Amino acid sequence: MEKRHIRVRFAPSPTGPLHIGGVRTALYNFLFARKHGGTCILRIEDTDQNRFVPGAEAYIAESFKWCGIAFDESPEKGGPFAPYRQSDRKTLYRDYAESLVEKGFAYYAFDSEEELEKARQDLSVKGTFQYDGATRKRMKNSLTIPPSEVQELLDSGKDHVIRLKIQENEEVRFHDLIRGEVVVHTANLDDKVLFKSDGWPTYHLANVVDDHLMEISHVIRGEEWLPSAPLHVLLYRAFGWEMPEFAHLPLLLKPDGNGKLSKRDGDKLGFPVFPLQWKDQATGELSCGYRESGYLPEAFINMLAFLGWNPGTTQELFSMDEMIQVFSLEHVGKSGSRFDPAKARWFNHQYMLRKNPAELAVFLQKELTARSLSFPDKYVESVSALIHDRAELIPDLWKQSWFFFKPPESYDEETVKKKWKPETPALLTDLVNLYRSLPDFSAHTVEAATKEFLVALNLGMGQIMNPLRLCVVGSGMGPGMFDIAALLGIEEIIRRIEKGIQTIKSI
Ligand code: GLU
Repeated sequence: MEKRHIRVRFAPSPTGPLHIGGVRTALYNFLFARKHGGTCILRIEDTDQNRFVPGAEAYIAESFKWCGIAFDESPEKGGPFAPYRQSDRKTLYRDYAESLVEKGFAYYAFDSEEELEKARQDLSVKGTFQYDGATRKRMKNSLTIPPSEVQELLDSGKDHVIRLKIQENEEVRFHDLIRGEVVVHTANLDDKVLFKSDGWPTYHLANVVDDHLMEISHVIRGEEWLPSAPLHVLLYRAFGWEMPEFAHLPLLLKPDGNGKLSKRDGDKLGFPVFPLQWKDQATGELSCGYRESGYLPEAFINMLAFLGWNPGTTQELFSMDEMIQVFSLEHVGKSGSRFDPAKARWFNHQYMLRKNPAELAVFLQKELTARSLSFPDKYVESVSALIHDRAELIPDLWKQSWFFFKPPESYDEETVKKKWKPETPALLTDLVNLYRSLPDFSAHTVEAATKEFLVALNLGMGQIMNPLRLCVVGSGMGPGMFDIAALLGIEEIIRRIEKGIQTIKSI
């Protein structure tokens, strides 16, 4: 058989913000397509009008732009199989559903809500109700009423749906690239609705029709769709279409491994489960995103790739191109992957460390602009170089360096209590005089002079360095004190020491 061109799709429903599990599914599709010289498409599955959320599609597009997953065909970009939004393909689906009725694989069902409710009460076994072979025979549909009556009902515009007729007593088998052989007995399937009374196809019909029309070769999607797969297999058979390969990806689990990762876990443990921030229109609730929390897109992607896939080596840091080289579905595991927020931060830290000071300075400049502060690039780069390894996330850059851009407004009480002694002001005054006498104010000169001063007075390092840092930084944090001093310059250092002497009182 001729080898099919690889065509994969990510097919989200715009029912809210995209969960990181969805981004991971898209990523695996993207890596798989790129690896095999194939095509990766984005298709928006918006046939469920009740669950449509305005803004969700734009959110999906922006998320992928941010994290660097570029689709070859999409609603935005178009392509040879356009349109890529199912609501724009609405008129196409009814004929497909009717063709299955003609072939005897589907039927019209005219049951009203009340009739369905009654059947649910009469027929449910242990609380579960299946619209299956047994139910079907008792209901009002084109298999139980004469064709003339069916035609009359259709002509009169009576509400109806089209249901797939599941054969009784059959085994549905298919091969899953991750799970291997999957076997489901038709006794566990019900006659799913393919076409609804509101004129829209269901997910199942639209999904299969579009995968066929868009010549999808591999369906790579989350495990939550595994129960739908046998139904899809039956649909392919009924239509007489070649089936794509299936690969159902493992679930993303909560950090403790108990159950699916949810938005609530993120809120509780303080990490995002969405790529970008999202504001719920109805409740006004704001959910944080990786972008806004200060993750780098390349770190986010690297971290996500490892939730379910491993390259089979000890290497953990991969650029998108490197991942494309080594990605394979064989290295995707069957069992769920536990999300580890600390590991997510670790990935980001690794990528922060790989940035040079000029790149980090760009982030700091944004913070400065937001605070209406202005400093030359060169200075900001020097600051970045000093705090370079202290920032796990982008906002840490500012948290670790703000005192290079403005003097402290308060002094940490604990440090004052421990480090500020009655003799401190006099010592610092002598230090100021010493600094004024120096030929230059390089880190090296300041260090040598400060140490000499300590030796001459027989003082320990901490007796002067801690109060000095308190005056300059406001607490005990920050990089090497002499580097800070050299960068801030003699005037600013003296100003801060003098302000400290006036303001800080020993407790
Ligand atoms: N529209 C489905 C979703 O929201 C797509 C599932 C599939 O990939 O078949 O995830």
